[in-house]
Amino acid sequence: MSADGEPRNERRITVIGAGLAGAVLATLLANRGWQVDVYEKRGDPRVAGYAGGRSINLALAERGRHALRLAGGDDAVMAQAVMMRGRMVHFADGRTDLQRYGRDDSEVIWSVHRGELNVILLDIAERAGARLHFDRALESVDFAARRASFRNPASDEVETVDFCSLVGADGAGSSLRAAMARETDLGERTEYLGHSYKELEIPPAQDGDFRIEPNALHIWPRGRYMCIALPNDEHTFTVTLFLPNEGEPSFASVRTGADARALFERDFGDALPLIPRLEHDFEHNPTGLLATLYLERWHLRDRAVLLGDAAHAMVPFHGQGMNCAFEDCVALADHLDRESDREAAFARFQAERLPNARAIQQMALENYLEMRDRVDDDDYLLQRALERQ
Ligand code: FAD
Repeated sequence: MSADGEPRNERRITVIGAGLAGAVLATLLANRGWQVDVYEKRGDPRVAGYAGGRSINLALAERGRHALRLAGGDDAVMAQAVMMRGRMVHFADGRTDLQRYGRDDSEVIWSVHRGELNVILLDIAERAGARLHFDRALESVDFAARRASFRNPASDEVETVDFCSLVGADGAGSSLRAAMARETDLGERTEYLGHSYKELEIPPAQDGDFRIEPNALHIWPRGRYMCIALPNDEHTFTVTLFLPNEGEPSFASVRTGADARALFERDFGDALPLIPRLEHDFEHNPTGLLATLYLERWHLRDRAVLLGDAAHAMVPFHGQGMNCAFEDCVALADHLDRESDREAAFARFQAERLPNARAIQQMALENYLEMRDRVDDDDYLLQRALERQ
């Protein structure tokens, strides 16, 4: 029995969001014998197909793999991952240069498909004993009564459940964060980058193989803007075009498929023949906004805590948002398991992870400048060449 007289199972937790972080946290806790319920607003992607809408592949680094190993998902994820040894810089004059991330293939990153990754993580969460509830969008929370309401987007029915504590793994637009902010000031601040992105696709070659070097993260740096491409295991590449929102060129000036073709003819000449559906992709894929989310507080007493993008969404230029979210999961599971006082566990989790998240958010912002403006710079190339000797 708790201090407020309510019966409470201390090893019971309710996770909002069965995306990347939600599924990993559920697995880590269920593996330790916790009773875990996960509520996800979308349908089960294993039945309904993946309805992500955001970047199709992600760079997985050692930080993220560590969490996957602990969750027992690393082998399955690595079976569909494509190694990226370094960045392949495509200069404006058509030359290319592979800049390795490390001295050899022990220091590499991996390209993984977001949808396939999510499916693997849901499978391991379910196998570990977590209960997954799909088509349940968090709508409102009564923190005093410890009751949360979820709406089924398809039937519009509302279901209310009791909870012990809530974990917000519901992404950058977190509904749990909004509910917590109605109870207390989280010190929330969002800084928009002033640049956005659009995804395009390089399909396989006619013989079914990759069209360009598969084991690299390709970059076309062009000063104020750039393109990148990451390989997928089905021999495609997901290309992401990053442009400012204003100025020339920008998403304000490049509006149609024909505008996009003109931009690529001028600035990304060697990429253009690789993207046969450029006009279609440009006109049909959404333009994504980029922002950094800062919070001063990640938890509301012992009732709720945030992690992953819900706590610290960042711009994607270090490829660390998911990796950092996975590190959060390991830290939160450890604090929850070690500390029976739930509020103290949340406070320790925040004290450990918030400064780390801030650091990686800053590095992600700085890396945009490096990727779009420095990797083709002569001084920079000389320095890299000297480092490699
Ligand atoms: P999400 O993956 O957003 O999952 C949130 C889940 O919550 C979703 O399933 C959603 O449906 C669900 N949900 C939302 N609202 C509700 C609700 N009300 N009720 C119930 N469920 C809800 N990171 C990397 O590490 N490497 C990369 O290379 C990389 N590239 C990126 C490229 C781009 C263009 C972008 C935009 C991001 C990139 N990231 C990358 C960041 C990465 O995508 C995020 O950090 C990661 O997805 C965060 O995981 P999450 O589980 O916190 O949130």
